[in-house]
Formats: sequence, C-alpha cells, structure tokens
Amino acid sequence: MKMLLGDIPVDVVKKDIKNVHLSVHPPAGSVRISAPRAMNDDSIRCFALSRLGWIRKQQHKFIQQDRETPREYLERESHFVWGERRLLRIEEKEATPSIQLQHRSILMQVRPGTGTEKKQQLLDDWYRQQLKSVIPEFITNWEKKTGVQVTEFGVRKMKTRWGTCNPQAKRIWLNLELAKKPKECLEYIVVHEMVHLIEPTHNKHFAELMNTFLPQWKHYRDLLNRLPVRHEDWGY
Ligand SMILES: [Zn+2]
Repeated sequence: MKMLLGDIPVDVVKKDIKNVHLSVHPPAGSVRISAPRAMNDDSIRCFALSRLGWIRKQQHKFIQQDRETPREYLERESHFVWGERRLLRIEEKEATPSIQLQHRSILMQVRPGTGTEKKQQLLDDWYRQQLKSVIPEFITNWEKKTGVQVTEFGVRKMKTRWGTCNPQAKRIWLNLELAKKPKECLEYIVVHEMVHLIEPTHNKHFAELMNTFLPQWKHYRDLLNRLPVRHEDWGY
C-alpha cells in the first residue's frame, strides 16, 4: 500500500508483527513502514507524521552522501547501478580491461597503472552498454501501447536533462546517468520522451497522455527529483 506524507511517498506493508517499524533506504531515501495487521491507516499515518523530522534528516543524509562527490575510482568506493549502491573493486592485470557486476560490487579489471580518466571511461562505456541492453525492449513495448514509432535512440551524457527528443525525426536520447537510477525511472523517461513525439510541450495534453499510459508517472518523476540530481531545470 502507498501512503503520501505531504510530498513523501511511503510504502506500507502489513505483517504479522507486534510493533510498527519505519525505515529510510538509500539511495533515494525511500520510506518503508512495516505495521502490524491490526493497525489502521490513520494510526500508521499518525506514527509516520510523528517521525517526519527524522525521515527528512535521513533522506537529506543519503542525498548529501552522493551529491557531487567526485569519484576517484578507488577500491571500495561506492557507485550506483540501477539504483543500488555497489562497492568498486579494482583488479590489476595485463589483459583486456573489463567490468563485471558481482554480488554487491563492481569488479573492474584494468592494466596496472591505469589512470582515473581511463577508469571513468571504462565504467561510462559499461553504463552505456547496460542502458543499451534494456532500452530497446522498453521502446518496443511502449511502441505497442502508445502507437508511437521511434526511429532511433541514443545514450548521452547530459548535464540538465534526463532525456531529450526530436519529434520530427522521432529520435530520443537518454541520459547516461539513468543507468545509476532504478530501472523504473529509465522506463518513465523512455515513456516521457515517446509521449513528446506526440506532444512536444509539457502542457495539459501531455499530462493527460502520461496519465493514460503510465498512471503512476508522477511517482517516478518525484523519485528522480528526489534522487541526487545535478539537473537544474527538471520540471517533469
Ligand atoms: Zn519533457
């Protein structure tokens, strides 16, 4: 069950437990409440409201942790993959550099003495591959649902937008950073850009189309807004 606490969405799960329990999770600071089955929604809301200050403090902490910390590509540094924090592990070897996703970590194999810039390039290329391995399926599915055809898509590093498009050419671009966010956020941006191929501006018609295709789109938009963002003019 979802509950909205002001602008904070809360996931409520009822379980066979005695006490109510509240937790805030990285990276986005999502809030979860486990409550006893007998506890009613009003009591759960009251409880959550009484902890609102603490929730905000935790969320702020997670966002600060990730915001603008320059990565150095060192052993045990945290990096995000599909919304989950992973520890970087560096292995030096005289072989073709590679990246492997492991349980809770990213194993980066590089030649001895590889510099920061090269490591960043390697990881960026890998993020790009991750995106390119899932985007076509999202596009195909949403082409069926929306009736829109996408002629081409691309992945780019963008400073101010999660996605962009060219309605005439039916092309869409997705921000490389999306590989670090939960997959649902990527899907939302794919849908958002595809809807722009029908309606280029963020007007009422656009919102109506989004409501039809992806009724919970505002939740994903808010999630992206809440996640550490370097994007200034993000309206939708
Ligand atoms: Zn837009």
